[in-house]
Parts: sequence; C-alpha cells; structure tokens
Amino acid sequence: MSRDPIARAQSADINGERLWRRHLEMARIGATAKGGVNRPALGEKDIEAHALLATWARERGFSLAIDDIGDMFVRRQGTDAHVEPVVSGSHSDTQPTGGRFDGIFGVLAAFEALEAIDDAGIETKRPIEAAIWNNEEGSRFVPGTMGSGVYSGRLALADSLATADREGATVAEAVAALKRAVPDADVRALGAPIAAFVEAHIEQGPVLEDAGEVIGAVTGIQGSRKFYIEVKGEEAHAGTTARRHRKDAFVEAVAMVNALHEIFHDAEDLVRFTIGQFEILPGARAVVPGKVKFSIDFRHPEIAVLDDLGDKVEPTCLSHARACEVTVDELPRSPPVAFSGLVPDAIEAAVQARGYPWRRIFSGALHDAGNLARLFPAGMVFVPCERGLSHNEAENAKPSDLAAGAQVIADVLVDLANRD
Ligand SMILES: [Zn+2]
Repeated sequence: MSRDPIARAQSADINGERLWRRHLEMARIGATAKGGVNRPALGEKDIEAHALLATWARERGFSLAIDDIGDMFVRRQGTDAHVEPVVSGSHSDTQPTGGRFDGIFGVLAAFEALEAIDDAGIETKRPIEAAIWNNEEGSRFVPGTMGSGVYSGRLALADSLATADREGATVAEAVAALKRAVPDADVRALGAPIAAFVEAHIEQGPVLEDAGEVIGAVTGIQGSRKFYIEVKGEEAHAGTTARRHRKDAFVEAVAMVNALHEIFHDAEDLVRFTIGQFEILPGARAVVPGKVKFSIDFRHPEIAVLDDLGDKVEPTCLSHARACEVTVDELPRSPPVAFSGLVPDAIEAAVQARGYPWRRIFSGALHDAGNLARLFPAGMVFVPCERGLSHNEAENAKPSDLAAGAQVIADVLVDLANRD
C-alpha cells in the first residue's frame, strides 16, 4: 500500500462524550448487582447488545452482515466497492463476573470511529467496518476467540457449530438466534479478505496506568497451551480401606500438581502457569476419591518455551501416577503472535501525531487480533484500566483514555482505508 499524503492529512475528531454514553448504555445489558456485566456469548443479553449496535448502525445508514460463526460487521461504504475493507472491533461477550469495558470498548471505539468519520464527511476509498467477533471469552462455549478463530481458519466451522454449552444449547442454535435478531444482515463469507485489522482493548494489566501513559501500541500476544488432566483411581470406604489398598486419585493428583509447579517455575517470572479448575469426585467426606479432574492454562511469549515446557505436562503426570490411571488432553494451541509492519506503523504514526503519551507493550492476554494476524495485517491499541483489574466486576477505565484509544482507531482507519 502506498501512502496518499492528501488523505493522510485528513482525519476526524471523535466524540468522547458520545463514546462514554454508548458504554453506559451497553453496560446496562446484562448488568450485575456489583456494577459489572454478565453477557455469555450469544445468550439473550449478548444478542441484545448486538441488536442495539445494529439499531445505531441503521440510524446511520451503515450496512450489516453476519457470518456463519456469528461474527457481526457494521460497514460504512468506501468510494471503491471492489476493494477489501479495513476493519476494527473486538467482542461483546463477557466472563460471568465481567466488567463494563473488556471487549465492548473495542467494538464501541470502532463504531465511534465510523460515526466520527461519517460526521466529518470524510470519504475513504476502502469500506471501513466495526466488528463484533463471537465468543471471545470462551466461558459459555469452549474454546474462546471462536469467531475470529473460525474466520481465520484456525478452528473448524463444523466442530465449532456443534459445540454445546452446559445446558446443551449449541453454537449453531445461538448463531441462528442472532440472525433472527438482526434479520436485515447480509451474509458475510468466512475468511473474506480484510485489508487490515486493528483492535482497541483495555490493557487488563497495570503498566500504562503506572507509567501515566494513555496508549499502548501492542507488539505481540503471548502464546498459550491448555490441558485437561483426569486421574482415575477407585472409590473406597474411608473407614475400612487400608492405605496400601487405596487408589486415591486426590493424593496422586496433588503429587502431579506439585511436580508441575516445580517444572514450570522460572527465575525470570515470565511463565504463566495456572491450575484454575480442580474437581474431586465423588466429593464425599467418607469416600476415598475415585477421580480428579484439573485444568492447566500455560502461557509464554516464546514458542520454544511453549513447546519445551508444554511437552513435559504428560510425562510429568504419568511419572506421578502410581495406583491410578492418568489421561492428558490438550486443546488446540495458540502460538505467539508478533504484530509488525502496516498496522503497528500506522498506530504509532497516529499516536505521535496526536501527542499522546505512549509506549510499545506486549499482551499477556489472548485477543481476536491474534487470530486475524494469521491471515491479514493486524495490530492492537491498549488503553489503561484502573489498577490493571479485568475479568472483574470492578473493572474501570477513564472516559478520556477511552476517547484517546478511539481517536487512534479513527485516525488509523482513515489512513489505511485510503491506501491502495
Ligand atoms: Zn477481551
């Protein structure tokens, strides 16, 4: 893409007050008593959030499209109908005790950018779009970043559509419900080419706030591997079964957990190793545990470390199984992502032109941009969040920081949508 100096000079000032108001309106959908948000992916509340965005889009004359995995796109047309769009966006689903900004900020920043560009009467050569990627959080349907994962070809469509939540409702049924709620949406082809993708998100960490900076230009996303371990012993009477006759799944699982924590301990503290689920079955006081299930979430910026340490999970568990049997299942991996070139360069140019205090920053959390970067030029913009707190009902962000993030998105969209 070559730079058009005339188009480059033109951008639109976003409306920070409107952006904040839209955040408050969205936060009412699925609001929790403690001031957070609970919007499971394509549940009733999340579909309501999609429908609200669709209403705002129609008021503007923007067009709507939905793909087969339930990603939704709001489009402002460009002057050339035959070129790929420049897209910005994030997700509208939340963790069960989620906050008001994780995900939805990236959607609303993109939509505010479209509105501001529209208000300013700026024509772009390429269409510009605000996207909601389906099921980023992975708390209703596993795995997360499902919408962008299927769009980019990392996850299979059929398997993803067949995935069910705890009540047995499938992704396919949820996507059908979304399409009914937005009946005027066109069909978007999965994997349809995107000229460039840029995602705004709250940092979900303390670095920007601590440094008094407003924008993080994201250089990459660390990779992750996720495992489910099942240790199978034998249920027995707690009063009559001698130690030598027990197949105690809990005792052996604890030995595995301790060994894993030792292996995953690194002096530089870059390894992120979490056992967040641990279930003892049947879970009765007077019964020797017959089964234990636990999860492993392992993240690191370097692929070599992900390979090396991740490959030790199964042998370590096997070596601590004595009387019990152990099985180790792994979910599809997310390799580390490096953002470089077109999009990060445009972000840094926009930030410097606006004079915001900023830094380059690496993302510890997964994001949809990581999937999209597999196929398309991509990048991310972080804004500070209070105390780095996220996946928490107390999650908070300053209106002025959100406005700065949306401004960078608007400037990047105008810039990139006027390149060949
Ligand atoms: Zn998020």
